[in-house]
Amino acid sequence: MERRYAVGIDLGGTNVRAALGDDRGNVLARVEERTERRRGPEGIVKQLARMVLAVTSELGLERIEGVGVASAGTLDPERKIIKVFANLPFNEIPIVDPLERELKVPVKLLNDCSTAVVGEKTFGAGRDFENLVYITISTGIGGGVYVDGHLLFGKDGNAHEVGHMTIDMEGRLLCGCGKRGHWEAYCSGENIPNYARLLLHGREEEFEESMLSKIVGGDIRNLTAKSIYDAAKLGDPLSLRIVEHVGRANAIGFSNVVNLYDPELITVGGTVALKNPRLVIEPIRKHLPEYALNRVPEIMITPLGGDAVLYGALAIVFKEVV
Ligand SMILES: [Zn+2]
Repeated sequence: MERRYAVGIDLGGTNVRAALGDDRGNVLARVEERTERRRGPEGIVKQLARMVLAVTSELGLERIEGVGVASAGTLDPERKIIKVFANLPFNEIPIVDPLERELKVPVKLLNDCSTAVVGEKTFGAGRDFENLVYITISTGIGGGVYVDGHLLFGKDGNAHEVGHMTIDMEGRLLCGCGKRGHWEAYCSGENIPNYARLLLHGREEEFEESMLSKIVGGDIRNLTAKSIYDAAKLGDPLSLRIVEHVGRANAIGFSNVVNLYDPELITVGGTVALKNPRLVIEPIRKHLPEYALNRVPEIMITPLGGDAVLYGALAIVFKEVV
């Protein structure tokens, strides 16, 4: 059978990546750049078009079936425009129409976590599963979901903002979205330090004597998710306790996902999980049965690593999901 080709784009607030690939999951060329934030929506479209031309320069643009764009942020109801995107100084980024005009190939747009679960189902660990969830634990927390073989969208394609489910009714921590008590406010890479400071409140002496304190120069304000996981890996008891608390909060988030969607498999990606696979996954596996009503699914790090979104962006061109 003849090979089919597409370009997938993973558009994030900091970096944008584009890859030329085929329908068997082979990546043939790829480029990565800082996201063009200074030239308005047109600047981003021009950047994407340029990157598509770069990765197709050898094969030829006319050989690809289309371009799949996976974006951070939320989309409009038609899934053609990015509405809210990583605190950029402009509100809307029309993607599909201007990019199709520029490149003269079909363009599809989907949010990044939905795209990642399509990547998992097409090229990753989810090939044999009809009920599948992908969760990213990165700067934020997000998810993509298949139930009975159907990708779930929601009315605007923005379903499964799982990071913003409430896991703490006391609302002790404020989420980046402005609401209190959300999962992401406790367990995302950005917010794990806030949760750590909450846990360490009144335990300053213990902190001062810890290895974690040495790593961050004695200043609790300098905590990062990386410093906490690094200290935990070195056996620092205080950091291991923080990691355990984060893991329990993650287990509550995962249990809600399990109770809602009843997946057979949950794959996990995102920087925090990929860099600390054991310290992230094991506490979730351990505590999940305490909270899940439904049968506990298999939970594993995505075999697609940091490329789950990029593979998904290729897959949405080949598959009729969008
Ligand atoms: Zn939130």
